[in-house]
Amino acid sequence: MEDHISFILNELGEDREKYFNAMSPPIIQTSNFAFPDVDIFRKSILDEVNSHVYTRGNNPTVEILRKKLAALECTDDALVFASGSAAIAAAIMSCVAQGDHVICVRHPYSWTSALLSKYLFRFGVDYDFVDGSDMNAIENLIRPTTKLLFLESPNTFTFELQDIRACATLAKKHNIKTAIDNSYSSPLFQQPAKMGVDIVIHTLTKYINGHSDVVGGAVCSSHEIINKMFMEEYMTLGGIISPHDASLVIRGLRTLPLRMSRVQSSTKIIVEKLKTHEKIKRVIYPFDPDFPQYELAKKQMSGCGGLFTVEFNVPDIESLLQIVSKIKRWKIAVSWGGHEALMMPIAALYNLPGRADPHIPWNYVRFYVGLEEPEYLLEDLLEALVRE
Ligand SMILES: *Cc1c(COP(=O)(O)O)cnc(C)c1O
Repeated sequence: MEDHISFILNELGEDREKYFNAMSPPIIQTSNFAFPDVDIFRKSILDEVNSHVYTRGNNPTVEILRKKLAALECTDDALVFASGSAAIAAAIMSCVAQGDHVICVRHPYSWTSALLSKYLFRFGVDYDFVDGSDMNAIENLIRPTTKLLFLESPNTFTFELQDIRACATLAKKHNIKTAIDNSYSSPLFQQPAKMGVDIVIHTLTKYINGHSDVVGGAVCSSHEIINKMFMEEYMTLGGIISPHDASLVIRGLRTLPLRMSRVQSSTKIIVEKLKTHEKIKRVIYPFDPDFPQYELAKKQMSGCGGLFTVEFNVPDIESLLQIVSKIKRWKIAVSWGGHEALMMPIAALYNLPGRADPHIPWNYVRFYVGLEEPEYLLEDLLEALVRE
């Protein structure tokens, strides 16, 4: 019963008798906690990751969220951060020191890429980006100083996957840790720890909170890794989530299965319809049988969410942006995973002053399917495609 999703989302970590049997847990909005005597104070300081000393360490509201996220990812424990990027930074930094080397899949989330290539590089941490579908290429990059293999499967623009089990096995053979950004799938559709990955990372901003009103992140891992990360990156850098935001994420989690299944079924309908449209060259979606890594996707993911990318069959940026300007029910925005449908035309990121052009072709538009009626979203897209 303890590992049933419904139990995790509705009961685990909650102790209602402590707070008037309130169904929704209280927001323990406090910076610090008092102790009845010196002995308990000393014991708490020695086990701060599990005690209540100071809210930069462990806060009771945040602790409920930690327990639920760890259980969803089948790990011992979790830490919750102020953003997904803070979680990624803490996870990577916990694995390396000056002179070490990280192998990372190419074109990861943009701030993961910046962390490795611009930021940690300044402190003497070397890196290589690699085609994550090529196991030989990964193995050839391994050096005696390699400490971490960082995966993101699928990524969130073109959805390339890595064979997670094979990567974890290879890394273990060389005594290298593996970490994965599992945001695309949410903990419901892919559980990398079960495939041998050491550290599983999520942005909470997307599916897990799901209401477009919180920025947060999480790292799920073993007691050994979490306890060390708590005393180092977590307490030192202090990128914690507030108790109030944690309570909003707990609220969001209650409906995660419902939202994921709605998003999945709507996306299937929309992708199938768009695939055959004459103005569309290709729809990229991991659970589409034409997706190049479809077999691998089906093998390691139990479901697929609401992100897909359309390669438009148009002659130039102008005609693409004309179509985009006619779409009204999908909002132009970054991010995804909330209640609302979004689109991200890559062309908008071309020719920005002082910025390199993206590696993704200009005729790609990423769409995110929200909780709207699929027919409502589809109608808007099809109309934009017919009107000249
Ligand atoms: C959004 C996102 C992040 C960063 O999360 P924030 O909460 O915005 O910091 C990391 N990885 C992926 C795949 C994302 O989509």
